[in-house]
Amino acid sequence: LTSSTSRPRLHVIHIAAEMAPVAKVGGLGDVVAGLSKALQKKGHLVEIVLPKYDCMNYELVQDLKVLDVPVESYFDGRLYKNKIWTGTVEGLPVYFIEPQHPGNFFWRGQFYGEPDDFKRFSFFSRAALELLLQAGKKADIIHCHDWQTAFVAPLYWDLYVPKGLNSARICFTCHNFEYQGTAPATELASCGLDVYNLNRPDRMQDNSAHDRINPIKGAIVFSNIVTTVSPTYAQEVRNAEGGRGLHETLNSHSKKFVGILNGIDTDAWNPATDNFLKVQYNANDIEGKEENKEDLRRRLRLSSDDVRRPLVGCITRLVPQKGVHLIRHAIYRTLELGGQFILLGSSPVPHIQREFEDIANYFQSHEHARLILKYDESLSHLIYAATDMLIIPSIFEPCGLTQMIAMRYGSIPIARKTGGLNDSVFDVDDDTIPIQYRNGFTFLTADEQGFNNALERAFNVYKNNIDGWKQLVQKDMGIDFSWDSSASLYEELYAKAAARARAANRA
Ligand code: ADP
Repeated sequence: LTSSTSRPRLHVIHIAAEMAPVAKVGGLGDVVAGLSKALQKKGHLVEIVLPKYDCMNYELVQDLKVLDVPVESYFDGRLYKNKIWTGTVEGLPVYFIEPQHPGNFFWRGQFYGEPDDFKRFSFFSRAALELLLQAGKKADIIHCHDWQTAFVAPLYWDLYVPKGLNSARICFTCHNFEYQGTAPATELASCGLDVYNLNRPDRMQDNSAHDRINPIKGAIVFSNIVTTVSPTYAQEVRNAEGGRGLHETLNSHSKKFVGILNGIDTDAWNPATDNFLKVQYNANDIEGKEENKEDLRRRLRLSSDDVRRPLVGCITRLVPQKGVHLIRHAIYRTLELGGQFILLGSSPVPHIQREFEDIANYFQSHEHARLILKYDESLSHLIYAATDMLIIPSIFEPCGLTQMIAMRYGSIPIARKTGGLNDSVFDVDDDTIPIQYRNGFTFLTADEQGFNNALERAFNVYKNNIDGWKQLVQKDMGIDFSWDSSASLYEELYAKAAARARAANRA
């Protein structure tokens, strides 16, 4: 029997700021969609509550319609109506909340980055719970994500359980502890939370600024289950350096805190069916990978003089977290070693974007290096398929998806041993790891020597052990990075919390 057949069907409601593919900025959107689909496949009832953004991809929402019950929610001393829409996104039922507030909270042409983000998302968190109360939902689990919906945890216990919305237990996932959404304590009052009661060291008060409240801390304190997106990152954030001020809070709530590695959408990322590619291929027939390599070289005007010249890629946001100095170094080192390099990336940080524009210009007609400084989904597919290796030299990495996508496309990861990279990339030369799990090249020290060592070992196998390389490519393409096993871990946590809730309600 699988775990799902021996367990009761659960009702899980995600309250989130993103969901792929309709409203995606980063990994959070992928997790909400991927985890929900996997849980639905296991037979659970999964629903999602999102803001109704003007800039959503509406073409991907089926049967979008407005419900004729307006939901009134409290904010800044009065009640505001919310228009509630429903629709289906890739088979998942979604509620979209459109606040009838003069601030036009989700009518800004972008998902985040507005000066009133704290207000917008604390409003949304309260309106979402109001919707669940008024719709009579009896969820087993309410799952909220990142600081934008972290307010759900204290709101639920302080205000909604007393109103009778009490069937659920709260799960909170932090996708990156770098972003905590702190604000002056007084701002918490807008959504109806009691500032006097919550601005305390054991509740929502920020650990370093005592006149500020920290929504992530609030969710850690008030949730029944707290997760982050890989086991190694879960350890790292419990140290002073990784926890960004929250390590002590995480340590005092360590019993309910766990790291679960994200999966990837193996339907969207499948070289055997990928329509972006010139030639589709699979682990048993990797010839097509060579053709994709040739095709991309032609498109990007790179030299095709030597089929066996290693092609190294990097697909990333260019932010300090990703190790931008090592990415820059990798371009030059790859050329010195006789390889070719393709970078696809863009930066929200102006000086980093400018620096890489200069490098891109320098290499604009180079026969072995090309930098494409934009976000381009279709090109990313071509690069995963064409490259022999992909570099991920992150300084920290909560989970990371590119290493998993790369392996699925037979591009061998060269990654720094941190966070989720440490849980998914295992060095081919590491004798402490069972041989069947070894799948890439890793380094620990975030400097040029550390990176060089891993890159040189990869080049050495590629050039001198052609059969060994081919076996590694085929092995990596066969690894299961789907959501199946990670969703089972969430299912287990949910089921235990729900069983405890039922027992408590009976008592
Ligand atoms: P993060 O969420 O920190 O940006 P992840 O590795 O978790 O990093 O996810 C990155 C995702 O974004 C991957 O799917 C990757 O393919 C994609 N991506 C990053 N940069 C680009 C880009 N410039 N063009 C296309 N896709 C990109």
